[in-house]
Amino acid sequence: MTIQEQYENLEKTVRSYNPSADFARIRAAFEFAQKAHEGQKRKSGEPYIIHPLAVAQIVAEELKLDSESIEAALLHDVIEDTAATHEQISKLFSPTIADLVEGVSKLTRIQYATKEDEQMENLRKMLIAMSKDIRVILIKIADRLHNMRTMEYQSPAKQKQKSLETMEIYAPISHRLGMQRIKWELEDLSLKYLDPIGYDEIVSKLDAKRQEYEDFMRRTQDQIDQRLNDLNIQHIVYGRMKHPYSIYRKMFNQNKSLDEIFDLFAFRVIVENVGDCYNVLGVIHDLYKPILGRFKDYIGTPKPNGYQSLHTTVIGPDGLPFEVQIRTREMHEIAEYGVAAHWKYKQNGQGAGTEGRYEWVRRLLENQEGTDAEEYIHSLKVDMFADEVFVFTPGGDVQNLPAGATPIDFAYAIHSAVGNHMVGAKVNNRIVTFDHVLKNGDIVEILTSKSAKGPSRDWMKIAKSSEARSKIRQWFKKERRDENIANGRAAFEAELKHCGIPMKDVLAPENLPGLLKRVAYGSLDDMYAAIGYGGFTAQKAVNRMQGELSRIAKQHQADKAAMEAALSRENKPEEPAKPAPKKVKSEQGIIVEGLDNCLVKFSKCCTPVPGDAIIGFITRGYGVSVHRCDCPNASPEKQKQPGQEGRWIKVSWGSDTNDSYPTTLEVVCKDRLNLLLDISAALSVTNTFVLGIQSRSTEDQFAIFRLEVRIKNGEQLKSLMNKLNQISGVLRVTRPAG
Ligand code: MN
Repeated sequence: MTIQEQYENLEKTVRSYNPSADFARIRAAFEFAQKAHEGQKRKSGEPYIIHPLAVAQIVAEELKLDSESIEAALLHDVIEDTAATHEQISKLFSPTIADLVEGVSKLTRIQYATKEDEQMENLRKMLIAMSKDIRVILIKIADRLHNMRTMEYQSPAKQKQKSLETMEIYAPISHRLGMQRIKWELEDLSLKYLDPIGYDEIVSKLDAKRQEYEDFMRRTQDQIDQRLNDLNIQHIVYGRMKHPYSIYRKMFNQNKSLDEIFDLFAFRVIVENVGDCYNVLGVIHDLYKPILGRFKDYIGTPKPNGYQSLHTTVIGPDGLPFEVQIRTREMHEIAEYGVAAHWKYKQNGQGAGTEGRYEWVRRLLENQEGTDAEEYIHSLKVDMFADEVFVFTPGGDVQNLPAGATPIDFAYAIHSAVGNHMVGAKVNNRIVTFDHVLKNGDIVEILTSKSAKGPSRDWMKIAKSSEARSKIRQWFKKERRDENIANGRAAFEAELKHCGIPMKDVLAPENLPGLLKRVAYGSLDDMYAAIGYGGFTAQKAVNRMQGELSRIAKQHQADKAAMEAALSRENKPEEPAKPAPKKVKSEQGIIVEGLDNCLVKFSKCCTPVPGDAIIGFITRGYGVSVHRCDCPNASPEKQKQPGQEGRWIKVSWGSDTNDSYPTTLEVVCKDRLNLLLDISAALSVTNTFVLGIQSRSTEDQFAIFRLEVRIKNGEQLKSLMNKLNQISGVLRVTRPAG
């Protein structure tokens, strides 16, 4: 390919996922880089521009990043290797692009020496933290990937050094950012230079069995594909083999031969929704024999880095074991492209609230329990994008804190016990005050005492990191509950007075439960305590309660009006004789006595299906809502309530029912391994379509599953409930209502 063709290919790739990219500017970046690198050659003898072009291609193809990233990738070596400057790029392109390019150059300049594991971890952290904009590290990884792909032209010494660095720094960072494909390629390429003999051994063994393995993969894939097509489940299925480096690790660490590796093959099924994940699981276990103890539900319990999937290992017809991973499209994108997929979602405005998927901010997340959602988003942004400062412990460990951080932040970053017992601090061996602002490279020592009084409220104002503030709050929450309640109560009452709401309205027994629910606290004391330690504010509490009180007042008024209307109807002297009820065309399979063409909906509380005894309730404005006769919301007492007489109406199932109706089942079981497996098998054999499964375990070893399914008729429901009841350990299968 000529350079021109390569460039056109890049444009084509960008256009395929981002048609509105700024192509004029991308071309300008390409032309600028081409001119700047004019005359420079790579070790392969090719013109240098090949490299930035290839890096931009990776950034587009593998990471699908935005216009600015593509431009920065094309320009990524001009500051480092040519006469171009930050100022120039800032003027010609944009300050953001100049910052991105400079960021990548800075990372290029860092010297990595191999050190102990812990220090390597600090180096990785430092690298991520230094890339203030996440795109910097993404471009740097693409740069490294291309350099590794073209490593054959380098000297053996350089090959070894770069491969080691890649293995220890860049592959783990790619993993942390969730970019599995790039991580694998980086590892395989590094292994090739770090242990050429081991690498060749694996690759040649795989090559020898290639035909056999490929046949197996194709057969299995066809089988799964066909079965899912028969069942009309929208899906993509494909297989892959374990990549050489992960085989290498297993073979050499666990002293195994290639044939002894269990999960050499893996198949992946990507479906449209979570319900289908469980449907497919049932199908796979019907097709192949599952290996006990190898099933993992990472959908119900995601991995710490946000990874979600169902994993199961089964044995194929030829006795070859293989793993099947089942996930939705979104889970898949996050797993494959990690933070890059997140970036993409965020750009399209679909990613709100998914910040938690950054592995390295998980620590932050853990500190957010008990704080308000808005404050959480705010603190996340501050810590993610504000400048950072690096300081050292006396032992030489790097601590990474937000700019402006003080000894208080440092102490709490070490451990909450250090913070809570702090009595003084030294920076570079000199005693400083608690509000001293730390600078890069400072060596910080915290003086502690067992008899320390604990943090003071002023510390909250001095601390810069949300981590420290959150830990201080936790301390107050635990140690000072009585004081918090008194302070919180005073603040709340003052705010109430300010808004002109009498306390007795809040305390009224008909209002209080609704108000507490609205602020999400179990009792007023809990809420006072939260206000007292700063986890909630009096303003928010009063604001929400005010809304709830006016809602309750409106409801009273509406109820009163409805009752009056009902009374005046009853008092009407001569009511025209009702026409004889006649059967009419059904609506969604429901015949409403005496009413034609009326809107019908199925109540969410008891989710009736054909065959159930049912009754209708005439709602205000939403037509007739259909309940099961045994639903508590349709009990005789409810039917007799004032204002409700005359609104209950006879309904029955027509002969033309819908294909299926959503309904909910609750299964209570003694908790044990593989319960979910057996439940999904029961769903599969009764051809039950799953909309969702939720499970929770109780403290006394019971598991409660809530199955949301679609049911055709009473018979299917009965046979499903029978099957579920037969599962060992199942105590009760019910249809929740009310
Ligand atoms: Mn480069």
